[in-house]
Amino acid sequence: MKKIQMTTPIVEMDGDEMTRVLWAMIKEKLLLPFVDLKTEYYDLGLPHRNETKDQVTIDAANATKRLGVAVKCATITPNRQRMEEYPELTEMWKSPNGTIRAILDGTAFRAPIVLPFIHPVVKNWEAPITIARHAYGDMYKAVDMVTDEPGTCTMTFKGDSGAEKTLNVQTVRGPAVWQGQHNTEESIRAFAKSCFQYAIDTKQDLWFSTKDTISKVYDGEFKRIFGEEYETNYKAKFDALGLTYFYTLIDDAVARVIRSKGGFIWALKNYDGDVMSDMIATAFGSLAMMTSVLVSPDGTMEFEASHGTVTRHYYRYLKGEQTSTNPMATIFAWSGALKRRGELDGLDDLTAFGEKLEAACFDTLSAGIMTKDLVGLVEPGFPATGVTSEAFLDAIAARLREKLA
Ligand code: NAP
Ligand code: MG
Repeated sequence: MKKIQMTTPIVEMDGDEMTRVLWAMIKEKLLLPFVDLKTEYYDLGLPHRNETKDQVTIDAANATKRLGVAVKCATITPNRQRMEEYPELTEMWKSPNGTIRAILDGTAFRAPIVLPFIHPVVKNWEAPITIARHAYGDMYKAVDMVTDEPGTCTMTFKGDSGAEKTLNVQTVRGPAVWQGQHNTEESIRAFAKSCFQYAIDTKQDLWFSTKDTISKVYDGEFKRIFGEEYETNYKAKFDALGLTYFYTLIDDAVARVIRSKGGFIWALKNYDGDVMSDMIATAFGSLAMMTSVLVSPDGTMEFEASHGTVTRHYYRYLKGEQTSTNPMATIFAWSGALKRRGELDGLDDLTAFGEKLEAACFDTLSAGIMTKDLVGLVEPGFPATGVTSEAFLDAIAARLREKLA
């Protein structure tokens, strides 16, 4: 069989623990036999991040900017416990995803992989609902304080020009708690652009919701900037593709989402996205089936699984056990990246390969071959057998080989 050719490399970011093990297996069984894989490899595994003082993460993000497409394995974000587990760490390195997101100025879109024999908790959901969460500011970059006597709180902005603006926040007659929040026009606009661009790329409607009836100025700015970007830069493309941009109050959006069939992107402010993405993921079934793609305003994309490094399985693997860790979201990160590379470079064979890889996964699952986490989720009566990750990948490879023949 002649291998499928690539022209431009994709950025490959390796990671940690069980997902690092799956990463190597996916390449060996599903990619290297079929594709003349061209990647720029960056090892974001914790030991190598430590050795390079995290420079490798910055280099990988910059390479992504240059090449336009990346695929990333899950990585450990060190905490106190990890510092004990990896005594050689010289610092509690920051979350790689945070570093990459800051450099690419991107928005993360999370979507479930939907199967006909695993029904979401919400019966009428037929197609995935993709959540786009704004990842800057509001409560996540706020200042807070507690006061314990009567008094008045004001908020003052001092412009570089010397101009000042002061507001009376509240006068209180006893102890109180306060919070100062902000966002920037630049960040909101980049968020809006990423959302419109991704809606166009994936040909899905875009919904956006805030609480602008109460937060008239703050949320009002979000609504205004989205509306302005839409009218100025995206309406014509949306019209041409038959897509809709739909703004509604968040209360109304929640009700409509529950009654919908799915199949659209729901853009949300930072806190709303944090909460709603967990609800959507759980209602669709399994964390192991959630994919994630970071999209810059210019269309640069970094694909990954939403789940972490599956530490508990890794410790069993280290003891010599064959684990049944679900590789679906990581495979779909690869197929997503290869399809995007194919589209950008006009390589139809590469795009078709990504589609066939996904189809081979669905065929395998439809044949009842799946990892153990899914066995408990299938409809009653569906014949499902739980197998190891390796057996699952072999079964996919066999079907992929047929599709490519
Ligand atoms: P996790 O790795 O997502 O795993 C949590 C649990 O969810 C697992 O123990 C497993 O449950 C189940 N699970 C998740 N993915 C699965 C899969 N593919 N197949 C089967 N089961 C799966 O979360 P965590 O244990 O909280 O975090 C572990 C490490 O990942 C942390 O160091 C964290 O920093 C990192 N992390 C990285 C990213 C990222 O790079 N994007 C995201 C989140 C977390 P059972 O054990 O019950 O089978
Ligand atoms: Mg959350």
